[in-house]
Amino acid sequence: MKKIQIIVLLLGLVCFSAKGQHFTSHYSGYIIDIHEHIALSDAENHNFSAKQGNALKDVLANIKGHIVMAGIITMAQKGQLEQTRLRNDSVIRLSKIYNCLIPICSVHPMDGPDALAEMERVSKLGVKIIKLHPNYQRFDVGSPEVAEVAKKAGELKMVLLFDSYNPTDVDEDGKLLMLAVTHPDARFIFAHMGMVNFPQFISILGLKKYPWYKPNMWFDLSAIAPILGNSPFREQLMWTIRQIGTDHFLFGSDFPLFDPVSTVKSVYAMKFTPKEEKEIFYTNICQLLQIDPKSFLSKK
Ligand SMILES: [Zn+2]
Repeated sequence: MKKIQIIVLLLGLVCFSAKGQHFTSHYSGYIIDIHEHIALSDAENHNFSAKQGNALKDVLANIKGHIVMAGIITMAQKGQLEQTRLRNDSVIRLSKIYNCLIPICSVHPMDGPDALAEMERVSKLGVKIIKLHPNYQRFDVGSPEVAEVAKKAGELKMVLLFDSYNPTDVDEDGKLLMLAVTHPDARFIFAHMGMVNFPQFISILGLKKYPWYKPNMWFDLSAIAPILGNSPFREQLMWTIRQIGTDHFLFGSDFPLFDPVSTVKSVYAMKFTPKEEKEIFYTNICQLLQIDPKSFLSKK
């Protein structure tokens, strides 16, 4: 091959990398998985998946390779206050034993003042995230009790991790947006980014124009990355994510429904730049929760 042909060929390859954003290498530093469900008793070990258990040993087995920390989630049931406290105490206790686990407690908004008191109690014990799942816990995001929980989260500087896909309430993502807008002091993670309703969050582009708007919404890519990340919806999804800002996206697997290692590959397949991947896998969650790298480098 003549010299000139080789130069043209090399130039072509460089252009393909820059224009098509075809990155062969990926971010290869620390990864934090903010969305893992843990079974707190043998009886609930296969509640989520017949194939994959989610006992403590299964969750700890996920801490490998680049994955250095995992958020462990419990979910509260209405009117079962003693159980709620016991479950919250269990995830807190596990996080004290294993530095690589982040406690994610839960309350049921319809427990009213008791739910708010439980938020205060776990906040004093160092918990920064409360999980709420409107479909599983059977409550309406638009109800005044949920607004009270959001108000309390703002006062306590806590983050509300909401499931954001409800097939029985198509208005739910609009209600979540309004909840975030009307509670600017609270911070929200919307898990799954609304799934098939993700275009709903394009409204944030309009909200950003208002002087009073506070960017208090983050999204985890659990479920949406493996399901839509490499589908015909990919281009629209990537456009939406980049318009909202990759500094507001987090990595989550939703284990045991999805495996963390495969979910990392699903995010790779979305073709973010390595810089964006670093934000999503690590930097954003560290900033949101003020995670000190020493906390997991000394992990047990
Ligand atoms: Zn989940």
